[in-house]
Amino acid sequence: MEDGKKECQWRKFEMVQLPFEVAKKLGRKPGEIVKMTRVEVGDLAPDGVREPEQQLSSEEIERRARESVEKVLKWFTKNGIILSKVPTVKYVDKDSPFDGIDMPEQVESFLARVKIPALSKVNIDTELMVKGAIIFGAFILSAFYKREYDLDISTSAVSDFVDFESLSNDLRKKFPDGAFETDVNIVIYKPMQSFATYNPEIFDEYIAHELWHLVENSYNVLLTDVFIHEATATYVQKVYVGKEVKSCQLAKFNVFGLLYKYGALIVQEELKGESEPLQALLNSEIRERIQLRFDKEVFPKVIDLISVDLCTEDPEDEYILKHEAYAKFRTNPTFENLISGLKTRGLNRFIDEIQGQDTNKFFDHAKRLIAKK
Ligand SMILES: [Zn+2]
Repeated sequence: MEDGKKECQWRKFEMVQLPFEVAKKLGRKPGEIVKMTRVEVGDLAPDGVREPEQQLSSEEIERRARESVEKVLKWFTKNGIILSKVPTVKYVDKDSPFDGIDMPEQVESFLARVKIPALSKVNIDTELMVKGAIIFGAFILSAFYKREYDLDISTSAVSDFVDFESLSNDLRKKFPDGAFETDVNIVIYKPMQSFATYNPEIFDEYIAHELWHLVENSYNVLLTDVFIHEATATYVQKVYVGKEVKSCQLAKFNVFGLLYKYGALIVQEELKGESEPLQALLNSEIRERIQLRFDKEVFPKVIDLISVDLCTEDPEDEYILKHEAYAKFRTNPTFENLISGLKTRGLNRFIDEIQGQDTNKFFDHAKRLIAKK
């Protein structure tokens, strides 16, 4: 099957941080990020991440991180970007809590299995996670409507269907103070240890990346333009080390690659010709432009990758079966009564958008629901 083939291809390679043992065998730099299958890495080094005697102490890693922070802040200042306080950094000698999170297999297989090297406090702010969940939810649902009913519905119209408010409240309850249980601004995790030893440039890149999240937060643009922030930070980290975001990197599309790398490429393109690109990156008009391209070019691809099994049931089914808005439809399942139910539910944007589209599949599904009851 055509689809199955494509899926296997995606599953095959991942971006992996080379463990010490593997690097030695391959004659490459430990900590380097390469394209490999998980199985290959596991075969080459079942357990060995790095040689214990070569490990830097936590204090030494933190000292290097503070040094790196200072260098980046100087560069920011030179480019007209001011952070009022020097951010604090802490090294935690383990993997990030997000590396161990259980995810649907479908999502898991399309996420790059690169371990998260660092996180900034604002990056995992609860409101940001809430917005992220809403945006992803809407994109998944929109893809679902296309797949199940062949209807083109915008993400804003489908988001009217879902009670995102209660979804958000759950997240807020779970993470009242964000996902961090610490006061520091940036936490760096285990992968940064081998970067500090073997790949200081990458180490600096990641520090610059996290610092840019803090910049966007202090300039109040982080929460207005959600989900381009990984792209903007990835762009900044590359500029900092004098590199361009390269389009050949797009070959390794997965969710991580799309949100960060492909996103960074869009940022780079949109900033072309700007004399002060970092300042331009905080400009709301430019961010809007980036966001628009993100909505068109990045999210649909992300959803293509992960949505296949994610949404299996129309959330509206519950309402059609129980909500009083659909009482008339339940006793007399005509198309007009279905639309009137949608109207009562306040789903006017959806009604507008299905005008002129073939609604048969959608209508038949609703009828079957009632008949089954
Ligand atoms: Zn980030």
